[in-house]
Amino acid sequence: MTEIRNIAIIAHVDHGKTTLVDRILHQVNLFRENQEVQDLILDNNELERERGITILSKNVSVRYKDTKINIIDTPGHSDFGGEVERVLNMADGVLLIVDAFEGPMPQTRFVLQKAIDLGLKPIVVINKVDKPNCTPEIAQEKVFDLMFSLEATEDQLDFPTVFGSSKAGWMGPDWKEPTSDISYLLDEIIEHIPAARHKEGTLQMRITSLDYSSYTGRIAVGKVTRGQLVPGSQVSLVKRDGKVVKTVAKEIYLFEGLGKEKTKEPVPSGEICAVLGLEGFDIGDTIADGEEPEGLTPIKVDEPTMSMY
Ligand code: GDP
Repeated sequence: MTEIRNIAIIAHVDHGKTTLVDRILHQVNLFRENQEVQDLILDNNELERERGITILSKNVSVRYKDTKINIIDTPGHSDFGGEVERVLNMADGVLLIVDAFEGPMPQTRFVLQKAIDLGLKPIVVINKVDKPNCTPEIAQEKVFDLMFSLEATEDQLDFPTVFGSSKAGWMGPDWKEPTSDISYLLDEIIEHIPAARHKEGTLQMRITSLDYSSYTGRIAVGKVTRGQLVPGSQVSLVKRDGKVVKTVAKEIYLFEGLGKEKTKEPVPSGEICAVLGLEGFDIGDTIADGEEPEGLTPIKVDEPTMSMY
């Protein structure tokens, strides 16, 4: 079975998240411009305006050295609707991108705090080291001080640091010695971020976010944390108030590159997927099966709010 790494990206706006994700896609020979559009998804803002809800499902997945890396986007703004906590719950580690010139910014602090509290291991990427007069070592020290003040554990404080330039297309251990590509970063992810855990038992998958297809309507996105999710199977939705509703997980999609691919295979625990055809679901519900379907401990889901990014 393919090993999986689920990693959430944390970055202050403009520190280079988009450029880095593009580079990662390039490194594994996937290009945004060539990506086939798998299903028509309404422009997020449009849908948000229409429904007044936060839509989030910008997962990108790449395959590198027999490992699947699911890259989970985190909102850079403060935590409207409990979104940050929900998406971080799918991650097994975080990639913290910091501008070598600016250092960590207040906006990153909030998300980083949640990641630290959830016990996630960070990899720090000091980006934009090509900028004149940048101070990568100072940026790194500031990240350390910030994590210390956020009461990171010794293990979290022992974070690996990768220096580089997403724009120039390299990442390495030393900012003064450019490498030829960003494989060093991908190797560090595989080495330091724990593999997604398999957990035997009856199915449990918390619905973390929504996606939308104009053909089929609402799509539930989340991570299978126990058992497996079988396409076409009867499942139970355990609502946040404990009520149980029977429905069918009609179609299941896995994230591949920038899109999604339909799968006929059972989705194992540890993997993130999108489920189509579930009736009456809400964010925060647990998809479960068995005689006595068990819900996962509820996580904060506030009233829907507009996303700010
Ligand atoms: P995001 O808001 O975090 O997604 O940031 P972007 O990836 O959109 O980058 C913001 C700006 O910084 C863009 O103008 C990028 O071209 C620039 N940028 C990103 N990475 C680098 C880098 O490594 N070096 C330099 N000099 N500029 C960069």
